[in-house]
Order: sequence, then C-alpha cells, then structure tokens
Amino acid sequence: MSFWICATCAVEHAERTDVCAICADERQWVPADGQRWTTLTELADDGCRTSLVELEPDLWGVSSRPGVGIGQQSKLVRTSAGCLLFDPIGFLDGAGVEGILDVGPVVAIVASHPHMYGVQVEWSRALGGVPVLVAEKDREWVARPDPVVQTWSDDVEILPGVTLTQPGGHFPGSTVAHWAQGADGRGVLLSGDTIYANPDRSSVSFMRSFPNRLPLSGAVVERIATSLERFEFDRLYGNFDNVIPERAREIVRWSANRHIGWARGDFDSLT
Ligand SMILES: [Zn+2]
Ligand SMILES: [Zn+2]
Repeated sequence: MSFWICATCAVEHAERTDVCAICADERQWVPADGQRWTTLTELADDGCRTSLVELEPDLWGVSSRPGVGIGQQSKLVRTSAGCLLFDPIGFLDGAGVEGILDVGPVVAIVASHPHMYGVQVEWSRALGGVPVLVAEKDREWVARPDPVVQTWSDDVEILPGVTLTQPGGHFPGSTVAHWAQGADGRGVLLSGDTIYANPDRSSVSFMRSFPNRLPLSGAVVERIATSLERFEFDRLYGNFDNVIPERAREIVRWSANRHIGWARGDFDSLT
C-alpha cells in the first residue's frame, strides 16, 4: 500500500503519522478514541462503493456509500473542452472511474480547501495523470506530495466558462468555482464550504470552522461576498448535497449582510 487515508477527514497521506495534521487543526477534530488510518482496500472490503448522480445537465455529484471521512459529494462539471472534478472524495473504485470517464475526459482535479483533498492524487492516477490544482496559500496541507500537484493563485479559467477563484475565509486559499453555463445559463457557484448552503435553502453561512463553530469577522464576510459580485449565478451547490436552487447571488449578499449585522451586535436584543 503506497498511501494511507485518515478515517476522519479521508485525506490521503504518504505516511502514517501519530495524528493527521488536518484533523488536529482547530477547524477539524480527532476522535476521542484516537487517530485511525484506513486504506482503499479496507474501505472496499467494508462495502464502500462510489455512485454518480446527475444534478442538472452537465453536472454530476460523485459520492460514496457509506460516506468516507467528511463525506463530501464531489462535483463533476462537463464542458465541450472536458471536465473538472471538484472536491474529490476520499475513496475510489473502478465503477466510479468508469462512470466519470463515460461523462468525459477530466482536465483537472481541484479541491475547494484541504478538508476536501480526499484521495486527489489517486484520482489523478486513475483518470490519466491529470493535474491536481492546490491553492498556493494552502499548499502546506498537502500530505501526499506528487508531481501531478500544481499550485495556483488569483483566478484561473480552468475550462471555458469555468473560473476558479479564492475568496478565502475558511482557509486562506478557500476556493469556489464559477460555472457560467450552469443553471440553464444563469450561472452556478460550486462553493465548497467557503459559503455553506443552509438547510432552509434560502440562506448561506460563512464560518472558519463548521464542526467547531468558529465564526468569521464581519470584515471577512464582506470581503468574500464582495469578491463574488462580479459573477452572475442563480444556483449554489455546497460540498454535500446542500444547494441553494435559485436566487443564490441575492441570497449570498443578503446572508452576508445578516452575518455582519449579527457580528456587529445589531440583533443583540433578540438574545
Ligand atoms: Zn484527518
Ligand atoms: Zn472544511
């Protein structure tokens, strides 16, 4: 076995360490009974399987059942020039690889932030050695270095109409992907958990840590919301199956204002 998978976050590691650095960080957590490592073989033997589901034309969700680690749903965006695999999961099998290649050739693999690295290098190998793009500001978190890993910064139009940008917040390099052709041409944002699509489907949240409930300042939330105003988008997909189906651009602005108001104390009378 050439690499290990942290059972809690599902990020691949070249070496087993005493504790996974991503989980030991204040934004994640280590289980009470200690660090546990697993492997692709062990996960497959335990019955783990991948599946693809079409979310809308030219967009698929890729997940595993049972979920591995944080249990995200990867997004596969198809364009005429190839596909982007966003937020790769921490498991893969032959059926998942075939299912993705049936959609189209993958041009790049990009995680929104280190919690979503999954088995990104392994996915690259299975999909033909495609580049794995890692935000320069977060490169220290890559635990399985490999020549396929390339760093990037600022904005990158990775495919025609698919732009990667780094509003930051959750991690300094926290990334979203804007897909102009999505939602019937009204635009889609793949937001990772840089912007979290809430269960009410009509608001979003901005946090430094979701599991440990660490807030971001109003200034940072303003920066994130402002940085995305140059994009047109009507729909926003989070990194699970959470989605804001429509009016997402307006909802991001409204939710940012709500967050800033709460952080400033505007609503203290309600507490
Ligand atoms: Zn971990
Ligand atoms: Zn995260």
